[in-house]
Amino acid sequence: MLIGTAAAAIAGSALGSARAMAVGNSGVSLRWLGVAGWELVFDGRRIVVDPYLSRLPVLDANGGIITDYRLDVRTELVDRYLERRPELLLATHGHYDHLLEIPYLMRRFGGEPRVIGTETHAHLLAAQGVPTDRIIIAQGGEHLDFHGFTVQVVRSLHSQFGSYGYFAPGTLTAAPPRPETISDLLEGGTLGYLVTIADRYSVLFLSGTANFVEREVEGLRPDALVLGMSGHANVFDYTARALRATRPKLLVPSHHDDMVTQLDDPALPEKGFPAAARELADTAKRVGLAATVLDPAVLRWYDL
Ligand SMILES: [Zn+2]
Repeated sequence: MLIGTAAAAIAGSALGSARAMAVGNSGVSLRWLGVAGWELVFDGRRIVVDPYLSRLPVLDANGGIITDYRLDVRTELVDRYLERRPELLLATHGHYDHLLEIPYLMRRFGGEPRVIGTETHAHLLAAQGVPTDRIIIAQGGEHLDFHGFTVQVVRSLHSQFGSYGYFAPGTLTAAPPRPETISDLLEGGTLGYLVTIADRYSVLFLSGTANFVEREVEGLRPDALVLGMSGHANVFDYTARALRATRPKLLVPSHHDDMVTQLDDPALPEKGFPAAARELADTAKRVGLAATVLDPAVLRWYDL
């Protein structure tokens, strides 16, 4: 396909020796880090969304969550799989599988990256030592210019499970004591992000949860939609509403693996749960959307 184009060559050099699979030739490359983590590279620039390489074994034998499981960044795994400095980190919400590694990454890269999150996320990050001048507090509606790309912040919602609720809800208006367990990392509001690269390609990350505010994304028309595909049985017509509201050309599932099998474990499937990509494809057909579905292999680069 188009792997030999100048744009792909530029993206390729930013990726190091990794060879990207060609989906398109926009010069924008995307990599799934497992769970709801994403890395986006273009024009020598780098954004990371919800990194969670640690994949902590927080589930008990019955599949229930061990609510007092102690926070622990597995730094050797983060260092192995996230080698390069992002200039921007995007937090979709405050839960451990989204926010845990952001303070470590910011420390490791000399406090240079910035992070976007809500006021609650800012308090949780500050309580873990992130300098407040590197935190961009957002509530949804912001359209931020990073000169070469923009980020539109979208007010969003957490997934609602069987009880119509979710683990560790809550908000903060002041910095708490240093978070110690996974229950201390509160949801604190949920955000989506539309990243638009130099007027040539856009990716909408509704990737951290399986819910959204329809009116906030209506008419956005991203080139690619990265859509959270964790449990959404109680969210009315979730996938169809997301596709109808945004009408993307490329659909990418997110948050669709077991969250605990380590990335270097040979038992880890190459891709996420197959039902996620299948649901996206079936729904696109049902709503009359001519979109391509990319079912990404974990840690593999794709040229969009
Ligand atoms: Zn969550």
